[in-house]
Amino acid sequence: MTSPTSHHPSAPTPTPTPTVLPLPIRLPPVTVHLTHHPGTTLFSKSIPIPTDLLLTLSLRAIALIYPAASSTTLPPLASISLHVRPFEGIAHTTHSHTTCTDTPPPSDAIPPSGTITSEIHLSSTYIQSVHATNASDVKATTHEILGVLLHELTHVWQCYVAAPAPHWIVEGVADYVRLRGGLAARHWRRGVGGNWADGYERSGYFLDWCEGKWEGLVGELTRRPAEETVRGWTGVEVGVLWERYQAWLEEEGGEAAGVSVPTHGVEVPMPTHEPA
Ligand SMILES: [Zn+2]
Repeated sequence: MTSPTSHHPSAPTPTPTPTVLPLPIRLPPVTVHLTHHPGTTLFSKSIPIPTDLLLTLSLRAIALIYPAASSTTLPPLASISLHVRPFEGIAHTTHSHTTCTDTPPPSDAIPPSGTITSEIHLSSTYIQSVHATNASDVKATTHEILGVLLHELTHVWQCYVAAPAPHWIVEGVADYVRLRGGLAARHWRRGVGGNWADGYERSGYFLDWCEGKWEGLVGELTRRPAEETVRGWTGVEVGVLWERYQAWLEEEGGEAAGVSVPTHGVEVPMPTHEPA
């Protein structure tokens, strides 16, 4: 992993964190459903064996958000399905139970082990537009598909079943995983400005900086997604941390942050994650 002080703040991607899991983890079965569309054809060219990819990216997400994971501590997922089909937007993730909300359900509403089915919907329309925007660069298209899927798989494995989950933590952690997983979007910039609660890459870069100084913070935030967790782990209020991070960016000569581009097209609450 690259230290947050050792690379230029505008660099979009630090060295990927290796996938290291302490124990064998039993993953649920995955299925892939492809709807006939030019973007789906591009998807199949980029990702010939998508079921294997979903498992590989799942392990990458789990390693980053559950650093001491065992199968008994992971969300009780019964299955993961990926649906590649045309729709406006980029992607979203849903779960079969209303357990991944910003408001915690009563504890007796938590389903028993292995009963949550999770669906990722990826827009083939978006894949087609990425391909066109990048002058038919297959590598660029593949990179973006992998990054979006890693973001969505992070939501699959976050699957908050017993705790409130502030939007900026949900989305910031998902883009943190893209960043540490070596799959940051090529348009991302670690820029000065904004707010820690903006979510997406802005919060993702902030969490990357925090994790470099207080290792284990993101794992703790995944277990207890609240601003109090930041204070408890670092001893500093999140607003103060943000000011320190901004000062570091300016010292490093960081450029002004651009407009944050959310993976889902618009900022929406879990669990529906529906884009506009
Ligand atoms: Zn998201």
